[in-house]
Amino acid sequence: MAEPQRIVIIGSGLAGASAAGALRDRGYTGDVVVFGREAHQPYELPALSKELLLGDTDSPHRVHDADFYERAESSCG
Ligand SMILES: Cc1cc2nc3c(=O)[nH]c(=O)nc-3n(C[C@H](O)[C@H](O)[C@H](O)COP(=O)(O)OP(=O)(O)OC[C@H]3O[C@@H](n4cnc5c(N)ncnc54)[C@H](O)[C@@H]3O)c2cc1C
Repeated sequence: MAEPQRIVIIGSGLAGASAAGALRDRGYTGDVVVFGREAHQPYELPALSKELLLGDTDSPHRVHDADFYERAESSCG
């Protein structure tokens, strides 16, 4: 079966961002479009109620480094 040219993921939380990363990890080269309500890049929520409250970190952990999305955008036609 031919690979789809574009995969659309609804939700840019941990599940959506992880699905996008898994597609790239497995060699998918088509467009990956991730829709979410958030204005920020996906991050992991557990740190909000743990490390962040305890002062062990000053920012939540992103699901991917910022350049993951920059590389993805620059590779879009
Ligand atoms: C403060 C906090 C601490 C947590 N700590 C833990 C922990 O220690 N351990 C643990 O296992 N879990 C923890 N959780 C829960 C865990 O973070 C969630 O289970 C996880 O984020 C779920 O990820 P998700 O991608 O499935 O959903 P979500 O992160 O809820 O993402 C849903 C996505 O769907 C999008 N969306 C929803 N409706 C629409 C729509 N109609 N159209 C377009 N987009 C839409 C949203 O914008 C969002 O991007 C915590 C949660 C919070 C809030």
